[in-house]
Parts: sequence; C-alpha cells; structure tokens
Amino acid sequence: MSRLDPHSYWDAGQPRTRRLRLSLSVDFSERRLSGSVVLELAAPASGPFDLDTKGLAILSVRGADGRDIPHALADEEPILGRRLRLDLPSGTREVAIEYRTSPDAVALQWLAPEQTEGKRHPFLFSQCQAIHARTVAPLQDSPRVRVTYAAEITVPEPLAAVMSAGPAGVRPGPVAGTRTFLFEMPQPIPPYLLALAVGDIGSRDLSPRSRVHSEPATLERAAWEFAGIEEMIVKAEGLFGPYEWDRYDMIVLPPSFPYGGMENPRMTFLTPTLLAGDRSLVDVVAHELAHSWTGNLVTNASIDHFWLNEGSTVYAERRIHEALHGEEAAVLGWAIGQKALDEEMERFGAGSPLTRLRTDLAGIDPDDAFSSIPYEKGSRLLALLERTAGRERFDRFLRDYIAAFRFTSITSEEWLAFLQERLPGVAERAQVRDWLYEPGLPANAPVFRSRALEDLTSLAESWTRGERPTPPQIATWKPSEMLVFLKGLPRELPPADCAALDQLLGLMGRGNHEILVEWLVIAAGSDYEPAFGKVREVLTRVGRMKYLRPLYAALGRHPRTRALARDIVAAASPGYHALSRRVVESVMSKYAD
Ligand SMILES: [Zn+2]
Repeated sequence: MSRLDPHSYWDAGQPRTRRLRLSLSVDFSERRLSGSVVLELAAPASGPFDLDTKGLAILSVRGADGRDIPHALADEEPILGRRLRLDLPSGTREVAIEYRTSPDAVALQWLAPEQTEGKRHPFLFSQCQAIHARTVAPLQDSPRVRVTYAAEITVPEPLAAVMSAGPAGVRPGPVAGTRTFLFEMPQPIPPYLLALAVGDIGSRDLSPRSRVHSEPATLERAAWEFAGIEEMIVKAEGLFGPYEWDRYDMIVLPPSFPYGGMENPRMTFLTPTLLAGDRSLVDVVAHELAHSWTGNLVTNASIDHFWLNEGSTVYAERRIHEALHGEEAAVLGWAIGQKALDEEMERFGAGSPLTRLRTDLAGIDPDDAFSSIPYEKGSRLLALLERTAGRERFDRFLRDYIAAFRFTSITSEEWLAFLQERLPGVAERAQVRDWLYEPGLPANAPVFRSRALEDLTSLAESWTRGERPTPPQIATWKPSEMLVFLKGLPRELPPADCAALDQLLGLMGRGNHEILVEWLVIAAGSDYEPAFGKVREVLTRVGRMKYLRPLYAALGRHPRTRALARDIVAAASPGYHALSRRVVESVMSKYAD
C-alpha cells in the first residue's frame, strides 16, 4: 500500500482514474444529487481499487459489460469519510457507480428561495476544496489524481446549471418539466476543482472569452463591476504565459457563499460582497484569475503544500495589481495582507506548526487549519526570492516553473529542487528552508514601503492623540487607502470617537464590504450601540468567513455584544454554509461567559 496523500484513500499502487462521466439529477426537495458516475481508468486493471466517499449511498457498482463488481464500504473515519473498495475483475477499463448524495453533503449548499436575491427559486452551489469532492461523487479525491470530465446535469425548469467546464448543450430532461445541461471539461483538473451551481442564472458577455453569470437581479451590477476583466487577463498572460483554459467565465453567487472567490476553472465562483459599486474589490478577481496558472495549472500535491497554490497566487495577484494600477497600489495590498498575517500568527501562536508553509496535517481537518498564513507568508517568500534573484530573473523562473509543471500536482520539495536548479544559490541566500519548515515569520521577510502607506499609518496612529484626517484629505483617498487607515486604528474606541469616525468617513452606509466590515469590527469591539443594527444585518445576510470571523470575535469583547452575537447566530445560523457555521462556532467557543 502506498498512500501518498494523508487526506485520501487513494493508493498510488492501484489503478488511476483519468476521466469521469457524471450523470446526475438535482432534487431540491430532497436536497440530493442522484445518478451515476463512470470512472474511466488510465489503463486496463484488476484487483483492489480504493475510492473516497463521504455520506454517499452506493446503490450499485458495475463494469462496462453490466456485471456487478464486488465492493465494500469501510467504517466511517471522521475526517476522511468512508473508503469504498472495489475488487476489479481483470481487464477492467471503466466502472459505473450508481449513488446518491446526502442532504448534509459539506460540498453542497442548498438555498431556499428566500436566501436568494430573486426570492423565487431555490439555488445550489458546490465548494469542493479541500477534500469535499467525495461528498459529491465517489472518486480518488487527491489533487495528484487529475481527471477530465463530462457531465449531464438534470435540473427543474426554469433553472439552469453551470460547471467548471465548457457548456456542451441543453436538451429536454428525462421527465417533463426538467432540462439536462451538458458539459465537457477537456483539461485535466484535481477533483477539488469539480464545481456546480444551479439556479435562476442569467449571463452577460464581457469579452470574446469572458462572460459573467448571476441571478438576473444581480446581473447588471456584476457586468459593470467586472467589465475590465479582459485587460486583467491580458496583463496576467504577459506575466505568466498563455491562458490555457480557453474561456474565463465567472458566476456571482448568493451572499451565503463562504469564500471571497473559488478558482473553479472556466467558472470562477464569487461572493456578491465584491459588488462594491466602484470596482474597488476586483483584486479578488485578479486572485482567482491568477489561480489559472498557480493552483489550477500547477497544483499542490496535497493540502500539506497548500502554500504553493495560495502563496504563489497572492504574489501573482499583487503583480497583476501592480501592472494595472502601479507600485503604490500594490504596496497597499501588501500592507493590508500584513495585518491579516499578524492576526493569524497571533491566533495560532508564532511557534505553532500551523504557521509553517510546508505543513503536516495528517489527522487534522484541512478546514480547521485554514488561515491567511499560506497566503501571506507564502507570497512574502516569493517576494523575497524576487528581491534576491532580481525581478527579471525571477519572472523568467516563474514562467519556466509554470511551463515545466503545467497540468501536474507537486510538492514543496519538488518546487525547491526546481528553484535550486534554475536559480542556483538563491534558495540558500533567502534561507528558504527556514521559510518552509520553521514556524513563524522569518526575520528576512521583505518589507513593503511607500510614502502613502507611511502617511496613512502615522495618521491612524495619531488618532488617539486627538488628530483627525481633514475632509479634503479624505476626499482624495481611494477605498484601499481608507481601509489601510481603518486597519491602523485601535480595535476599541470610546463611543464619542466611534460617532466622530462614522461621521467623518460616512462608514455605516458603505457598499464596499471591506471598509464596512472593518468599521463594524471596530464598532462591535467598542460596544457602540448605534452600529448594532448594521452588524446584525451584515451577519444575517453574508456568509463570507473572512467577515464572520473578525466580526464575531469583536462581539466577544463585551457582555452586551456577546449577548447580541448569541441572538444573531441563533437566527442566522440556519442560513450559513456548513463551513461558515464551523468558523462561527469555533470563535464563539472562546467567548467569556
Ligand atoms: Zn486562492
């Protein structure tokens, strides 16, 4: 037995899947997908074949000749789920498994009509990263096992389906009142990039290779916000090489989506909190787009190398940002990221093994280990390598790295070997081993400076001495500058200061959720009652974990806000995604009574 991925029953000594053919019906009343998946093998095989499953009811397993294949589900393991072991007769080329999903499948969120923007139709979306694809289909759920796929998804009329794949037509469904949407994904992907959304979905073209999808009520705003996508793709291609996925489409999901975005290939999933109305939050789109190279094309071999996906992508995102908006704007991005990194180092403790880049998460649920550290520490390592090697050499290295490992999944060690081969001496000078294998942030971490950043930081620091930014000063601020200023303020202010701050910056009515939530974190931590209604409104409507964690943590500071938090969560929790609910529970478990 050779299990290379601690979070999968996939065994490298066994046959390997190369393609999936999914045929599924979406049942909103039962909250289930039911149907079949055919796993095509890379070569004819026999003997044991282990698959990952979680919460799946397995109804039958058959070979291409229709004969039953012996199979057994092992006992449930809390993180991994249940191993499905098939005993393949000799010469097996493919297996067809009939199954249905559980209503509690972590990867699937089923929204009632009232949880959508339009309020008339239900909605379904998936989120398979890191190890939840096994709650959608039985498969080898390790990023090392890349697959292409075809899918037929049957949905009730008038709903539509989109996937992380190319659309391949629509036909009438097997029963009246249904339609079947066909998809084809020719590029091999790690299973966590399997993605599906179903709902009342419209779309609008943004460029010859990009389209935005969303509920009809959101479409106009979404198309306006992301109108600049083609320019972004062109800039990214200039930095990292050709875009390899044919189309770059996006879908804006209902507000309970737990992440800012998910880089599902050909169909990035996005939170509607990016629709700020001023195009100020499109850096999240730059991030998801950058994953088309770092993460989707070159993928972490397991969650222990997650930083390869996310650290590289944050670095790439900030390079795209710099190419579009200049160096000063990029420095603000690095400064905002530094705050997130500092907070997470404090949350885990700088000596925690979870602050290493290369982790060892065997026996740990990847969702419990999720943090900004692989993102921000990882991106800082790449920025350090850029400074050590020089930008021109490092850019060439990045393009060569992407070209060398495209459509593969690799470890930190393979990355390091390639670095040492292509940029001799750079890894040693930058002390890369300390970055990978030691906890905390190394002393040689790059520092990002700019005049604007220094001015904003000192202005925020002088707040407690009674100094205030002037209205003409504020009028020149871009949203990212206001955010840097807010992040520099104390986390707790006297009520009169809260009122003055809100009045000065007009915070309560902000459509930009980064600014609004940063303000509400201060207000909640200050026990500032006039903001309680807005805190309740945001926490009830939005499920993005990036906002839930700091807001619920800030509400934990005072008895009155703790009571408010408990009241809000009792009402809002049923509408949260399972992942968001876990984050909230973990934050509130640390409340004093
Ligand atoms: Zn990412």
